[in-house]
Amino acid sequence: MDETIKKAQQALDDEKTHLTLKNLLLDWQEADDEPSTWQSSLEAVFDSEKADLFSEVSRERLATLIQQKDLQKRGNVKEVKWLTSGDEDVCETCQEHHGEHYPIDKMHELHPAHEDCRCELEPVLDVDISSEALRDILS
Ligand SMILES: [Zn+2]
Ligand SMILES: [Zn+2]
Repeated sequence: MDETIKKAQQALDDEKTHLTLKNLLLDWQEADDEPSTWQSSLEAVFDSEKADLFSEVSRERLATLIQQKDLQKRGNVKEVKWLTSGDEDVCETCQEHHGEHYPIDKMHELHPAHEDCRCELEPVLDVDISSEALRDILS
């Protein structure tokens, strides 16, 4: 695994860091700002070590790392389904992933497929776990 991604993942083990970055990414998506100010947004909320670390990873991949960790915590999702944006600009690489299921611990290795990848990963509810939970309720 890429060393930078691994470090970013470890940094996100910290609950506060995780939440702060998540909120920052959400604000960012809404604001649609210039990429040049992303670094300063990071520096405004993190120490320089973390800001530098996160700035080395693309925002798409950071968002995937966040989503992955959130899903791991939920526990009722083991796989995600790859969905392209479904328009004519979807490239061949992304099209090959479309509709495929992947284990959640592989998410950050696969997604984004490239820079400016617009694909999304949809959580797939684990049928085994949910039917087990249902049995618990019924018994
Ligand atoms: Zn693509
Ligand atoms: Zn894509």
